[in-house]
Amino acid sequence: MTGSQRLQAVIVSVGNELLYGETVDTNAAWLGRALAARGIPVARRFTVGDDEPEIRAALARATAQPGLVLVSGGLGPTSDDRTRSAAAAHFGRPLVVDEDVRRSIEERYAEEGIEEVSALAARQAEVLDGSRVLRNVVGAAPGLLLEADACVVVLLPGVPAELRGIVEGDLSSALAEKGLVDAQVFHRVIHTSGTPESALAEALEARLAALPADVVANIDLAYLPDLLGVDVRFTLRATSQRRAEARFDRLQDAVEDVVGPWSFEATTGDLAEAVIRLLRESGRTLAVAESCTGGLLGKRVTDHAGASDVFLGGVIAYSDAVKTSQVGVAPQSLDMDGAVSETVAGQLASRVATRFGADTGVGITGVAGPDGGSIAKPVGTVWIGTYVDGRVETIMRRFPGARGEVRARAAQAALTHLYRRLLER
Ligand code: AMP
Ligand code: MG
Repeated sequence: MTGSQRLQAVIVSVGNELLYGETVDTNAAWLGRALAARGIPVARRFTVGDDEPEIRAALARATAQPGLVLVSGGLGPTSDDRTRSAAAAHFGRPLVVDEDVRRSIEERYAEEGIEEVSALAARQAEVLDGSRVLRNVVGAAPGLLLEADACVVVLLPGVPAELRGIVEGDLSSALAEKGLVDAQVFHRVIHTSGTPESALAEALEARLAALPADVVANIDLAYLPDLLGVDVRFTLRATSQRRAEARFDRLQDAVEDVVGPWSFEATTGDLAEAVIRLLRESGRTLAVAESCTGGLLGKRVTDHAGASDVFLGGVIAYSDAVKTSQVGVAPQSLDMDGAVSETVAGQLASRVATRFGADTGVGITGVAGPDGGSIAKPVGTVWIGTYVDGRVETIMRRFPGARGEVRARAAQAALTHLYRRLLER
């Protein structure tokens, strides 16, 4: 196998606990991402129990086509660890004790105060004849790499930290040495909030179509929508991070005026992080008064460590009585306009800020459903007020979905509105 062929990978996960559903196969998921990042797509996955014939059958299918085969689990010292013996039998390679591995296991045990290395531990020093040892700096059993049936086959321990250590360490170097990872895959994600996927895609694709070929060549585009917004992900292959970033920068500049009105920057992908950053940079503080979101906005903000720099607190102003007594909403506004109204949203925002001594305030009031809707104010109607630098602005939204979705979208819309206002400054 040479680097010029497009390499594909197959993952074989071994362990009864995976089949019984006691353990979720996070190794396969992690390997999928790690391989994708190195430009190697996973073509297939197999999961088998701690059963030698099953492991052998999986190895036969996994090596039916040339490629990289990664096997997770079953390398430990106990009788239910059968991957080593199954692989030895399948590939016709005897198991031989590797003296270096044996010594390192003895040292490891000596450090833990165990003098006699038991026969079970010594079993972990057995390697398939002709295989290459991949060091395990976290645990005892090393990984093993062998070339067989036009495949590179790698046996890895099942303990996630051990598997990851080996993949990021010796396996990555081995694949690079063999020329199997020529280019790497890079992503750039633009987070957006406040515009539907279809509208965003229409505008973005019109722009991309008008760009010079060298800016857009060989860049893949994916839309990743969820309740709160749409992530736009660009993907390309490049030989270095620097080259990749340079291409992404050019592309992002070229689409900035199309996505800019909706985009925000946050390493966690959470708009609340971006809002906190803008508040901190401008030396402002925030207080919130929430009716239909019941504290969700405060939770979103305080999910981030260090939010106390900017977030003073909030009131869950659910009843009319609390809206008046704790936030200072005027009783006549509640009577005349109703709790779900522009006036009340604005008063929630400005008066909670005043009462808490904050520079900015947010008020949210709406009909989360499933009951309580009317013709004038159907379920999903939400009024949001923001108070920034002494000025109140309000917006009304009609959100689709069940109660939980309306509440989640309302908190996100409030963050979006506040973020835009803070950016304008
Ligand atoms: P093993 O190497 O098969 O002895 O696995 C040791 C431990 O690693 C198991 O008891 C599981 O807790 C964990 N493990 C094994 N395989 C996986 C996997 N595919 N995903 C996540 N954890 C695993
Ligand atoms: Mg196991």
